[in-house]
Amino acid sequence: MLSRPRSTIARTARAFATLSLAAVLAMAGSVSAFAQNVPVVRDAEIEALVRDYARPIFKAAGLSGDAINIVLVNDQSFNAFVAGRRMFINTGALMTAETPNEIIGVIAHEAGHIAGGHQQKLREQLERAKTMAILATLLGAGAMVAGATSNSRGLAGAGMGVMAGGGEMAQRSILAYQRTEEMTADRSAIAYLNATGQSGMGMLKTFSRFQNALSLSGAQVDPYKISHPMPQERIANLEVLVKQSPYLDKVDPPTLQQRHDMMRIKIAAYMQGQAAASRLMRKNPGSLASRYGDAQMTYLFGNLASALTKTSALIKEQPKNPYFQELRGDILMKANRPKDAADAYARSVSLDPARSGLLPVSYGQALMAIGTPDSLKKAVAQINTGLGRDRENAAGYRYLAQAYGELGNIPAAELATAEGHFYSGDYKNAKIFAMRAQQSMKRGEPGWLRAQDIINYAPSGKKK
Ligand SMILES: [Zn+2]
Repeated sequence: MLSRPRSTIARTARAFATLSLAAVLAMAGSVSAFAQNVPVVRDAEIEALVRDYARPIFKAAGLSGDAINIVLVNDQSFNAFVAGRRMFINTGALMTAETPNEIIGVIAHEAGHIAGGHQQKLREQLERAKTMAILATLLGAGAMVAGATSNSRGLAGAGMGVMAGGGEMAQRSILAYQRTEEMTADRSAIAYLNATGQSGMGMLKTFSRFQNALSLSGAQVDPYKISHPMPQERIANLEVLVKQSPYLDKVDPPTLQQRHDMMRIKIAAYMQGQAAASRLMRKNPGSLASRYGDAQMTYLFGNLASALTKTSALIKEQPKNPYFQELRGDILMKANRPKDAADAYARSVSLDPARSGLLPVSYGQALMAIGTPDSLKKAVAQINTGLGRDRENAAGYRYLAQAYGELGNIPAAELATAEGHFYSGDYKNAKIFAMRAQQSMKRGEPGWLRAQDIINYAPSGKKK
């Protein structure tokens, strides 16, 4: 299920720093005011797909691709950038791209910036993001906490600089570099696309569109267009490079295109409503993606019996698709059939090659809804599995706390509550619950130590 966490991105910069997203810790009052509005969305299917787009490119760029965290920002404008190991991508960019190749081209260009060391100039990263003031602020906060968590004062200091130095000086010095860096990143991008046997046409299409797009008054300006000036010369150079490639005419594999189509319809259905979803479905009526969209819309309208029939047909066609099972689980949960929902989620977990941390948490919620002591124990195990894969999923800790509570394990419930507050950026309550948990724990045991970490945590990066 595509979900908008209640808190959206609000809160943990630490989550950003250590690669999650459900929340972004507010580092300071001034940050939290901005942070409230960054609408991060979580979805196992889309995160896995974008990671699949990025992985070969990152590998070709010599970057470690194992731990790329995909941060989906629910924003209809076009933006995409990489910060540390996080690839931020707007749903608007995913919706704009008709093919995987168009997104992969943008990822390749961003990878070019990283491999070229451009990103080490964090100020430039700030510039890149400045049209999204919130993200820019969070990046500063994220860098700070990255420093804090690794106990590196230097990095923490750099983060501080990002936050403070977003002014004119930085802007002027950055503009001087920008043109060369963009050209360098384009060249690198083509090299990565060639190395992975992919065409640069999608990248050219995307960048040409930015060049041609007129700024209509009142229309939203894409942040990416502002951070990526597209002078005629640059597009011309890029076009030469793209057309030299032996992979010029290579198209995306049909299975990848199908996943892309399913992703776009899902974003439309959950985020943009029926009209947007119908528009996409009409382009390819009867396709698997269109029928997926139809099943989702039917579910979202609350027509559960019909949604179930439609989803079963999808499962029959792709029995190994974990996200069809997930949708089935969502429908069954809404229909108050937690046992059947648990079976569906169990299958989605076992079928998921991407090992998303979200699916075990959904499974755990269904097990909790069954409510027997045995199913509660299983719920705890599943939610812990999910959190093990995705440590900063603040919502997951809330379910975990509830499950422990129902089992009567109060110290564990208090520790989970502390974690949930911690990853939501509410350090005050995190510490209160961590101290409560410690009172019933043996000094030095793992839970006690984790509670101590939370108690000792100082968001400014200084140990107190
Ligand atoms: Zn660029």
